[in-house]
Amino acid sequence: MSGPARPPGMSESDFQRALGEFAAVVGRAAVLSGEGAAQPYLDPFDPFPPGDTRAHEASAVVLVADIEQLRAVLNVANRYGVPLWSVSTGRNFAYGGAAPRLKGCVVLDMQRMNRVLEINETLGFALVEPGVSYYDLYRELKARDSKLWLDPPAAGWGSVMGNTLERGFGTTPYGDHASAQCGMEVMLANGDLVRTGMGAMSGSREWQVFKPGFGPSYDAMFMQSNFGIVTKIGVWLMPRPAGYLLCRYMFRHDADLENIVETLRPLKLDETIQSNAVIESAVRWAAGVSTRKQWYDGPGAMPDALIDKMARALGIGRWNLRFCLYGPERLVKARRDVIHERFSRIADAQLIELPYIDSSVEPKGGGDRSQVGIPNLDAFNLLNWRGGSGAHIDFSPVCPPVGHDAVQQVRMVRDRAAQYGFDYYGGFTVGARSMHHIFAAIFNRDDAGQTTGARNLLETLINDFGAAGYGQYRTHLEYMDLAASQYDFNNHALMRLSETIKHALDPNGVLSPGKQGIWPGKNGGRAQ
Ligand code: ADP
Repeated sequence: MSGPARPPGMSESDFQRALGEFAAVVGRAAVLSGEGAAQPYLDPFDPFPPGDTRAHEASAVVLVADIEQLRAVLNVANRYGVPLWSVSTGRNFAYGGAAPRLKGCVVLDMQRMNRVLEINETLGFALVEPGVSYYDLYRELKARDSKLWLDPPAAGWGSVMGNTLERGFGTTPYGDHASAQCGMEVMLANGDLVRTGMGAMSGSREWQVFKPGFGPSYDAMFMQSNFGIVTKIGVWLMPRPAGYLLCRYMFRHDADLENIVETLRPLKLDETIQSNAVIESAVRWAAGVSTRKQWYDGPGAMPDALIDKMARALGIGRWNLRFCLYGPERLVKARRDVIHERFSRIADAQLIELPYIDSSVEPKGGGDRSQVGIPNLDAFNLLNWRGGSGAHIDFSPVCPPVGHDAVQQVRMVRDRAAQYGFDYYGGFTVGARSMHHIFAAIFNRDDAGQTTGARNLLETLINDFGAAGYGQYRTHLEYMDLAASQYDFNNHALMRLSETIKHALDPNGVLSPGKQGIWPGKNGGRAQ
C-alpha cells in the first residue's frame, strides 16, 4: 500500500501525535504533512524515475522560525523518536536537494531563520542565520553600499550556511568556503546551545575573527555531519579590490591537460593566481551555451572527432582555463605577465587578452560574475544539454594538482561514462594543494534508461576511484554510505570515532540519520 512515508518503526498514531506537538510549537501552517505535502522536498534530480518508490522521501516538513521553536521541536523529536533532516534552504541540487537520506524523516526546514545578523566592514565578515541565501547576502551588501564581496558557489540561490557546511566552493580568492568560515552557533540534539571559538566567551567581540578560541576547536565537526544543527555561522568576506582581470585560456589538444595542471600548480602554490582556477572540458563549456542535439544525436557518448569539431565551431578549446586576477592595475598586470609567459609554452595555447576592469563595472556572463562576487544561476544551463526534464548528479572526487593524476582521473571517468552512454561533462576547480574534479552525469529524468544509467554510473565510478585510492569530497544521498566506507584506514577508525561522537551527542538518533554514512544505532546507539 502506498501513502505518505512515515518514520521507520513508528506507528501512525504516534506519528500523528508527534505532528500535533510540532504544530503546537510552530503553528499548524508550518507543518506540512499528508498526501503530497512533502512533494516540494523531493529531490528534483533524484536518480530514480519520477513515480518510482522513492528512497529519499520525507514524511512531513516542519518549518522553524527561531531558536526557541527549534529547541521545542527537538524536544518532541527526542520524546517520540522522530528522525529530522536539517536543511537551511534545501537547494543542495545534484547531491539530494532538500530530501533526506532516510525515507520517512521529517525535514526540518530553517529557511525562515533568515537574518543577516552582522556585516563588519572593518574586519570583513558576516554573521548569518541558516535561511540567508547568497542572493540575500548580496542584496544586503549592496543595500549597505558595502566594500565587501561574497564568494558565490556555482548556483547562487542556496544558503551561505548549507554551502559552507557542505564545504562548497567558488572562484574568488575566498573560494574555499570551509576555510573562510569563522565561528558557529550550534544547537545540540538535547537543546543545548553552543558557540564555538571566541563565541564561547560571553564578552568577546572576536567570534568572527579568531577561529580557534581556547581549547579544542569544533567548527569542522559540524560540517558534513549530523552532530548538531547550526543556527548561526560567520563567514569572511573579501575586501573589494580596485579592479580585476578575467583570464581565459584555450588549449587545442585533449593531451594538453597534463601540462595545464603542471603549469598551474606552482602558480597556485605561490599565489601568483589568487583564486581557485577552473579547467573545463569542451563538453562542459558547450553545455552552457548549446544543446547536445546541435552537435550529435546518435547513440552512446559523443564521438571524439565530433567534440573536436564542436570545439572549433564554438571557438573553444578541448580544455579551457579561467580564473581572475584582483587588485590595483600594476599588480594585476605583473601577475598576468608571469602567468602568460608560462602558459604560452604550451603548443597552440590561445591566451585571450581581456582588459583590466574597474571593480565598479560588472561583467555580464554568469561564470564571470561568480568570479567577482555576484551570485547567479548560469550553472543550470547544463540542464538543457540532453533535453527533457534535465537533471544531473555529480561525481566529485578529490584530485591532487598533479598532471598525471588529472589525466588518469579523466581517462577513468570518460571511459566509464562512455560505457553508460554519457559524455564527459567534467572539469577541475583548482586550489593550491588539491583539486575538485567534478563530473556531472546529465540525464533526462523522463527517460528511465538514462536515469538508471546515471545512477549506476555514479556507483561504478565511486567504486573505481576508491580502488585507485581517490575519495569523494561530497556525494549525493544515494552514495553516502559507499563513499564513507572507502575512508577505511585502520578498520574504519574514522567512522568508529564518528559513531562514538554520534551516540554521545544524539543518543536517540534524531539528527539526520545516515548523513555522510553516519548512522545512529552503531557502537551502542539506538537501532534504526
Ligand atoms: P543549500 O544551501 O544549497 O540550500 P541545504 O540547505 O540543502 O543547502 O543544505 C545542504 C546540506 O547541509 C543539508 O542536506 C544538510 O545535511 C546540511 N545542513 C544544512 N543546513 C544545516 C544546518 N543549519 N545545520 C546542520 N546541517 C545543515
